[in-house]
Amino acid sequence: MMDKEKLKKMAENPGFISGIYNYCDRWCEKCPFTSRCMNYVLCEGQFGDPEANDINNKKFWDRLSEIFKLTLEMVKEDAAKMGVDIDAVDLEQVKEEEKRNGETCENNKCVQAAKAYYEMADKWFKSNNSLFEEKADDIRAKIEMVLPGANPEAEFLELKDAVEIIGWYEHQIYIKLKRAVSGTLRDTIDEDISDANGSAKVALLGIDNSIAAWGILRNHLEDQRDRILDILLHLSKLRKETEGTFPGARTFIRPGFDK
Ligand code: SF4
Repeated sequence: MMDKEKLKKMAENPGFISGIYNYCDRWCEKCPFTSRCMNYVLCEGQFGDPEANDINNKKFWDRLSEIFKLTLEMVKEDAAKMGVDIDAVDLEQVKEEEKRNGETCENNKCVQAAKAYYEMADKWFKSNNSLFEEKADDIRAKIEMVLPGANPEAEFLELKDAVEIIGWYEHQIYIKLKRAVSGTLRDTIDEDISDANGSAKVALLGIDNSIAAWGILRNHLEDQRDRILDILLHLSKLRKETEGTFPGARTFIRPGFDK
């Protein structure tokens, strides 16, 4: 049973990289830092048995609720040390500000372009379901033929990875950019936009990976070269726009990943 002291002790473990999970892409399955990430150990360690991994499982939600309460207690304690009374926050005012910020975020050029990107990507995948089936048949036939110099298995894996990468980042780019833009609105008060830059960097890395993945699809899918080129051009513009809006993003140091 996890308690507040245990959680605090865990957080003090020097083996963990402080805040590494704040600026990652949440792709734990592919992450080289799982053993140094408190978030991963806390979730996987606690929910490690298959039963607990089921999001419909009561145990999962009970544990989450327990961690939520402990975290809230810790936040209250830390806020009190800083002289902030969480209970005195004017929620109506906060709600109004959030609404205003939400509208400003949605109207931001980068956020709009990121939204347009995931809509384009979704549309492309929906209209090309059969294309992947045809490609799979084609690869199966190549495997049976055993052509010299051909490596259909590698071709299959390359395509599978590319599809997975695009799927992983397509909505995340939008979410991270929204967070980055909203960070600039919040952070103008203390002029510290490092968190916004961190989120923008994660979005940029997602864009880079997606560009590479679409490039792979384009190489393999002859008939789709023009349509994929449109998507690549859109992503390249989004990349440029994001770099222009967040000039400090590329040089932002993500704990663990960049040092
Ligand atoms: S740092 Fe790695 S292990 Fe931790 S949450 Fe991010 S992707 Fe997952």
